[in-house]
Amino acid sequence: MADNFQLLIRSGNPIIAIESTDESRVVDLVRTAAAELARPLFEWSMTNGLREMGGDEPGRTVVPAGKVSPALLHIRDVRQCAIYLFKDLGPHCKDALVHRTLRDLIETCGQSQATIILVDALPLPDEIKRFTLRYEIGWPTLEELEDAVRETFKRIRDKSAIKITSSITKREMEQLVQALRGLSCHDVERVVASAVYDDFALNANDLPRIIEAKRTLLGSTGCLESIAADVNSDDIGGLDNLKAWLAQRRGGFTRHAREFGIDSPRGILMLGVPGCGKSLCAKVVAADWCMPLLRLDPGMLFQKFIGESESQLRQALAQAEAMAPVVLWIDEIEKAFASATASSADGGLSKRMFGTLLSWMQDHRQPIFIIATANDISALPPELMRKGRFDEIFFIDLPSVAAREGILAIHLRRRKRDPKQFDLRALAQAADGFTGSELEQAVVSGLFAAFNQKTELADRHILDEIAKTRPLAVVMAERIDELRQWSQNRCVMAD
Ligand code: ATP
Repeated sequence: MADNFQLLIRSGNPIIAIESTDESRVVDLVRTAAAELARPLFEWSMTNGLREMGGDEPGRTVVPAGKVSPALLHIRDVRQCAIYLFKDLGPHCKDALVHRTLRDLIETCGQSQATIILVDALPLPDEIKRFTLRYEIGWPTLEELEDAVRETFKRIRDKSAIKITSSITKREMEQLVQALRGLSCHDVERVVASAVYDDFALNANDLPRIIEAKRTLLGSTGCLESIAADVNSDDIGGLDNLKAWLAQRRGGFTRHAREFGIDSPRGILMLGVPGCGKSLCAKVVAADWCMPLLRLDPGMLFQKFIGESESQLRQALAQAEAMAPVVLWIDEIEKAFASATASSADGGLSKRMFGTLLSWMQDHRQPIFIIATANDISALPPELMRKGRFDEIFFIDLPSVAAREGILAIHLRRRKRDPKQFDLRALAQAADGFTGSELEQAVVSGLFAAFNQKTELADRHILDEIAKTRPLAVVMAERIDELRQWSQNRCVMAD
C-alpha cells in the first residue's frame, strides 16, 4: 500500500485526495512517504494553520490558523518540492478563491514537483473530485489491527495505577483481530480501551463485548441491519443435525483451518415451515462463532429507480465485505428474487440483481458466512439450489415430540420456571404439529392465564392454551406437505 502511494507522489501527481474517517492512518501514511522520499512535509488544518513537520513533531508555523487560501497562495508562491497535507479542506472548496487557487496549483505543483494531499472525513465536492487523483487507503490490514490492539493495551497498562493483565492466547488474539475487521484503527483503540477498562484485563471474555461494540459502532446502514445475537446454541430446541453441522464448522475461518487445507465455509440455505427457528439459528451461528450478524433486508433493496436498486445491492455486499468476518443473513430470500424465476414484470431487474448476488456468492474472497432463509421454494430460482452455491441446504420441519419437549423447556427456563416441575412429555404430545414459535406462545399465554388466576404456572395452563391454538400445520397443511415432499431428496433434514 505504502509503495503504491509513494509511486503516486514520485510520478508528480499534483493533488491526491483521500476520503477516510481514519485520519491518523492517513497521516502515518503521508509522514512515512515524506520521510522515505526525503521531502519536506507541511500540514494544514483550520485550527493549526500550515506547519512544517519535522518527524512526528510540528515545527514552525508558516501560515497562521484560519482561512485556507493564504496557505494555498503560499504554496503557489514558494514553489518548493514538498508534500502538503490538508485536513478537511472539502468544506472550504465552495469559496471561489480557494477553488481557483487549487486549480492554479495543479500547474505550479507540476512544475515544482510539490504534492498536495487532501484528507477528508466527508465526501469531497464533485467539482474538486474532477481534478484530483483519488487514493483509496482501504481498511486496516490484520497486522495493523493487531498492532493497534497491542499498542492500545500497552498504553493503558503503562498509564494505569491499577494492575492490568492480559491472558489472551495466540488463537484468541487472532479471533479478536478478525472480529475488529472493518473498523478504523481509531475505533479499534476505543473498543479495546473500553473492553480493558471494564475489568482491567484483556482476555477471551472480551470477545463478545468487542463484537457488540463493533455492532453499535457500525449501526444500521441502508439495506444492511446489524442485529444483536444475544443467544446461544442452548436456546435452540431440536435441530440436532444442523447444530452438529454448524459446530463442526465453527473454526472454519481461522488461519489454522486454512493451513490445514480447509476452504472457508460459504453458507447454508434453510428452507422450512415459518416459526421453526430459522432466524434463531442465524443468531446462534453469529454468537457461537463470535462474528457480527448483518441482516440484508431484501425488501429494502428495491428502490424507485431501477439503477439505484442494483447499486444498493452492490453497496450492501461491498459493505459486508468490509466488515468481514461476518454472518450475512438474507432473510426470506425468495421475496427479493421471486420474479427472477418468471418472465418478470420489472424489466428484468430482479433477474439482474439475482445474477449479481449469485456471482458475488461465487467470487467473494472475504470470510463471510451466508445464511439464507426461505419459506416458499416455488418462488426460488433453481440456480440458487445448484450444488456449490451453499455448503448445504437444510430443511427445517415441524419439531418432533422430543424437540418439542426441548423447546418447551427452553421457554419455561427463559421465564424463570423449572422445567422439571412440568410434565414436558405430556405437553409435547398434546402440541402435535406445533411450531417452535407456537410452543413459545403457549408458554407465554399460559403465564398470563396463571397470573390472572393468581396461581403459579402449571401444566393445565399450558395445556389449555395448546388446546385453544389452531396450529399453522393445520392451517397450511397442504403447503407444508408440498414443502416436505420437495425437500425429501434435495435437502438435509435439520433434525
Ligand atoms: P419465520 O420464517 O416466520 O421468520 P423462523 O423459522 O425464522 O420463522 P424464528 O423467527 O426463528 O422462526 O422463531 C420465532 C421464535 O420462536 C424464536 O424467536 C423462538 O423464540 C421460537 N422458536 C422457534 N423455533 C425454536 C426452536 N427450535 N427452539 C427454541 N425456540 C424456537
